Amino acid sequence: MKPSPSNPWWATTSRDEIHFRQDALLRRFLTHRVVPFTKYYGELFRNHGIEAGDIRGTDDLKHLPFTSKRHLENPRDFVIIPDEQVLRKQWSTLRMAITHGPTAAKSALEEELRPILLTSTTGRSAAPVPFLYTKHDIGRLETGGRRMMELCQSDPSWRHINAFPFAPHLAFWLAHHAGTGFTTFMLSTGGGKAMGTEGNLKAITKIDPDAIIAMPTFFYHLLQQATEEKLRWTNLKRIVLGGEKVPAGMRRKLRALCEAVGSPGVSIMSTYGFTEAKMAWTECLPPEGAEPSGFHVYPDMTYLEIIDPATGERVADGEPGEIVCTPLDARGTVVLRYRTGDLVEGGITYEPCPHCGRTCPRLLGKISRVSDIRRLNIGKLKGTLVDFNALENLLDDTEGLGAWQIEMRKRNDDPLETDHVLVHAVAANGCDVETLRSRIAHRFSDSVEFTPNEIHFHTWDEMRRLQGVGKELKEQKVVDHRPAP
Ligand SMILES: [Zn+2]
Repeated sequence: MKPSPSNPWWATTSRDEIHFRQDALLRRFLTHRVVPFTKYYGELFRNHGIEAGDIRGTDDLKHLPFTSKRHLENPRDFVIIPDEQVLRKQWSTLRMAITHGPTAAKSALEEELRPILLTSTTGRSAAPVPFLYTKHDIGRLETGGRRMMELCQSDPSWRHINAFPFAPHLAFWLAHHAGTGFTTFMLSTGGGKAMGTEGNLKAITKIDPDAIIAMPTFFYHLLQQATEEKLRWTNLKRIVLGGEKVPAGMRRKLRALCEAVGSPGVSIMSTYGFTEAKMAWTECLPPEGAEPSGFHVYPDMTYLEIIDPATGERVADGEPGEIVCTPLDARGTVVLRYRTGDLVEGGITYEPCPHCGRTCPRLLGKISRVSDIRRLNIGKLKGTLVDFNALENLLDDTEGLGAWQIEMRKRNDDPLETDHVLVHAVAANGCDVETLRSRIAHRFSDSVEFTPNEIHFHTWDEMRRLQGVGKELKEQKVVDHRPAP
């Protein structure tokens, strides 16, 4: 295994040493930056009678309350904003001033601490929360992005396409900085909203890329259109997906479509990240025919705990639970012990990766939202709780089903009536419409104990319009058209 040239320890050290190094990073981070300079954590520590130095390492984090989305009402309170008086007296500042002079010390502090970039959350319901980045954080994006490229075994001489939507979102900017960090060619198309489907198809055809980084649903539409137009993309070797989860069925469909445009044997990798971590992690390239071995996390940047979502207690390695995130060296906006609301089926492991041998922690198995349970009034079943995670997964894994959308309506659009669940579908791979209709109905009744009120079939074009491909930042796969009561 080739360690990363920039910082070899993240992928090669033993678990004990990772633990030791993370403790040191965390102590330094809390004492010098987070507790003295963020309003929220300064107060939190004071209110709980904890000194920054009381947290000796990651095991002591359990003494600190979790931070959740609902705490982020005043995003500014989570930004590291230095008090110059305090900063000037810190040994690291003094040492810099003594060895490099006051001007150099000032500009080093500006690079470390002045926010220069913003990304924000995209929540379906909640207001977006801004997360600030300093130049120090941009450096983290470049390092993390370069590691992604290494894990995917990309090559700097390759041509890359970044088809994430151009927006103040982590996915677009991390992909962009992965390109600069890896010193490779990357064209950022800005996704459907910036260049349209046709614009993306033209750009990809012209560049003839080796690797494409995109959201699965959008890329699926691109490939579908490319096959219809009989375009040839014969150079593709890697597809790296982000922004949405990627069920096994989606991987299968994408691989088949890549083959149809002239690139058989493409490796499809999925990534996992979120705004609050200001980072994302990828799977490594599995050997031919092997299953992916989980998301490789950088232990020098982030500490992840897996907890029981009901009790908040940490679970053992390899046990399922909710992902909780603490950065170890971020600047700008920071959140400690952030509860993601994401459930990881196989938990976390520190065993060396069976594919690449790296010893960094890995998140194993499917990741889904802890709860996307919605209450529906279906026929006589008043107030039925329906797990939409399960619904989305079962549709993605249905053979012969291309793209889909779940729509909720009220019967006759009357707010007092029962709820209607519609499935919009595109048949694929020559699947017969009636076969597909009964397959969808059966899978629904097996999994959620009701069947959709209606199943409508569409052409690809109609589905692109329904999902808002090229109009919305994220394709609309679940839409709620129930009028407010
Ligand atoms: Zn690996």
